[in-house]
Amino acid sequence: MIIAIDGPAAAGKGTLARKLATEFNLAFLDTGALYRATGLRVMRNGTDLADAQAVAAEAQNITLEDRENPALRDEATGDMASKVSAIPEVRAALLDYQRNFATNPPEGFFGSILDGRDIGTVVCPNADAKIFVTASDEVRAHRRWLELSAKDNTVQEAVVLAEMQQRDARDAARATAPMKAAEDAHLLDTSNLAIDAAFDAAKEFVSSKF
Ligand code: C5P
Repeated sequence: MIIAIDGPAAAGKGTLARKLATEFNLAFLDTGALYRATGLRVMRNGTDLADAQAVAAEAQNITLEDRENPALRDEATGDMASKVSAIPEVRAALLDYQRNFATNPPEGFFGSILDGRDIGTVVCPNADAKIFVTASDEVRAHRRWLELSAKDNTVQEAVVLAEMQQRDARDAARATAPMKAAEDAHLLDTSNLAIDAAFDAAKEFVSSKF
């Protein structure tokens, strides 16, 4: 069983994917973390974004430590992740790992669930269930702002909204594996849904695919 969850920033993909993973005993891969870890390495090493091979080498060299670095969740890291993810060589460097995780989940799991931007379209086009999670820009920015302002009370919601829209636009406009819903994806708009209600809707859809 392979489940693909895609959608724009702060739509609630990660929370949903984690809960579905527990519910259906699936191994979970947050593919955004791979791009974020690549972005972190690029920032740390001062790698030239114009040098596609050098950035792809950073993607190839990411470590577990990079993937668990608390700075992974910073807004600056998300922004850099979006820049490196537009480089085709970087996407190619991360593709096998994601596909291998999807088709050979760690022992004991019934299948896998991956969340990202291109899981249903490129990484796992044959996934058994595909969900494209959305919410209005304002709702997503508000959720992200609530998260960020818990750590830093100077963060402005309008700035969060503008940066999020910029990142989504870049992710949707890139030539290689742009963010988009697969034709056979189930659309789930969480604008007016609490987490539990969104989870129930996703669970019902996934159950129908068993
Ligand atoms: O989902 P998350 O916000 O952690 O993703 C960070 C960035 O990584 C996204 O804005 C996107 O540019 C990139 N990404 C991607 N393809 C994926 C997952 C993430 O391009 N499958």
